[in-house]
Amino acid sequence: MADPTEERELLQRARRVRRLLRVKPGSVDLAGTDPRSTPGLPPARPADADPKSWSRAEVARIGTRIAAGQERLFASAAVGADRRRALLILQATDCGGKDGTVKSVVGTMNPLGVHIKAFGPPTAEELAQHFLWRIDRALPGAGYVGVFNRSHYEDVLVVRVHSLVPRKIWQARYDQINRFEQDLASDGLSMIKVMLHVSYAEQRERLLARLDDPTKRWKFNPGDLDDRDRWDDYQEAYADALNRCNSKAAPWYVVPADRKWYRNWAVANVLLAHLEEMNLTYPDVALDIPALRARLASGEQEVNKR
Ligand code: ADP
Repeated sequence: MADPTEERELLQRARRVRRLLRVKPGSVDLAGTDPRSTPGLPPARPADADPKSWSRAEVARIGTRIAAGQERLFASAAVGADRRRALLILQATDCGGKDGTVKSVVGTMNPLGVHIKAFGPPTAEELAQHFLWRIDRALPGAGYVGVFNRSHYEDVLVVRVHSLVPRKIWQARYDQINRFEQDLASDGLSMIKVMLHVSYAEQRERLLARLDDPTKRWKFNPGDLDDRDRWDDYQEAYADALNRCNSKAAPWYVVPADRKWYRNWAVANVLLAHLEEMNLTYPDVALDIPALRARLASGEQEVNKR
């Protein structure tokens, strides 16, 4: 991206979208957040432009900038002693669009520097450990951008809604999560927690689409309907998690996600704003460039003589 004005505008917008979607301390209002809304969308969009193709083009443009930040992060750890890393956590009810977000937004980065991990029900080995054990093991190393499809928040969501452990146990987890996330931030991990907020009606449409379309049927899990029956309990559990574990070190964002094109655009903006805030630069490399150039030149001569 050559035009500095264009680049500045892109960044300003990313910061604005991030500010708009950021959960304000102690005040998340999921019922009052319209999943079809589109906060921060630029008014300058051509009125008759197809929103899907507009979003695809914008995500590609923002993605170029995201990938540039990612490369600096990777280079700083590979060559320097920079321990910094980033972690994007995606949480949503079923059909919330976590997989689609990974494909469209995370897909703009270089796969070599991305570490993606999906969390399903804990294995017997994991269950025998503290709930944060499997999370800790999956954290991105220095220089990487980690992506969690579900996370330790399941331990205060599905676990709470289905009473998989006694109340006393999951109640204590909010504080444990806060301490864990604070420690990670102090250790150079920049965390971005995103809840993709879909409506009850949209979830029904997406579940029906999975049944109707033979190419999507493999994604249909009848157990998802049990969770759908507990919709209000999940919303309450989400609200608690977002209110109780929302710190400057590990902020939450609620992204209205009924419109997939807005969801992708919004998450791309939030990710870009976070990477930019890390002030990533290429590392200084201590190389004797004239000597190395001379050596390369002499090598050429040797080969040409053969
Ligand atoms: P997804 O629905 O994310 O595309 P899966 O169909 O594999 O992926 O579902 C993962 C399942 O694992 C979800 O039902 C989720 O509630 C469950 N799960 C994740 N973490 C835990 C946990 N800590 N305890 C119990 N169940 C969990």
